[in-house]
Amino acid sequence: MHPQERIEPVLDSATASFGITALNELQELYNGKSITEDGSFALEVLQYINEKVDDFKKKDGRLYAIYGTPAENLCGVQVKQFRKKYGIVENVSDREYVSNSFHCHVSEKILPTEKQNKEYRFWELCNGGKIQYVKYPIGYNLDALSTLIDRAMEMGYYEGINLDLSYCDDCGHKFQDDEIEDVCPSCGSKHLTKINRMNGYLAYSQLTVTLPNGQLHTYSRLSDHKMAEVKDRYSM
Ligand SMILES: [Zn+2]
Repeated sequence: MHPQERIEPVLDSATASFGITALNELQELYNGKSITEDGSFALEVLQYINEKVDDFKKKDGRLYAIYGTPAENLCGVQVKQFRKKYGIVENVSDREYVSNSFHCHVSEKILPTEKQNKEYRFWELCNGGKIQYVKYPIGYNLDALSTLIDRAMEMGYYEGINLDLSYCDDCGHKFQDDEIEDVCPSCGSKHLTKINRMNGYLAYSQLTVTLPNGQLHTYSRLSDHKMAEVKDRYSM
């Protein structure tokens, strides 16, 4: 093919993926329950979308797929769009973000195994791309961690493991999950590095350094709405 040729003829064999997100908030809107508490309506909707996609595939032979999108920016934009039309709805638009993909709300107080089980219903319905992740306390029992990873592999998951990797740059103190202050409890330093999982990758949520002029400066790689989500995380 010549570089200047139109790509139209090759598009027939290409795939097109459509991202789904906020299934948790969809279920909340339907009957005031989260996908941890219920989830049957969210599942029904996702099955319906998959059936439609299969119909389209049969019609034109193109490979369409649904993926559980990380919606890094959209998770904040969607809330603003929703509020403009419908205002604040409890557990739907009362936070700065919506849940991404088919994931349980980050604040749900559930065990890693429960989270794996709850999200499993949606797994095979998002074959265009997906990740399942759970959060473990720092210093988690390594044997238990290994058992949970094996469990995820048996379930066929692409598994993300989230540990709060936050530490003091001066004395090396590792922050425990319940320590959210901005001063090291061990040495009093404000030079802290906080790292959080952001969907599929790790990102600095906070990096505090002293500039040459002596002022403290804090960097973050996360948007405001993602930082709001990070603060709410329990089972992630
Ligand atoms: Zn320290």
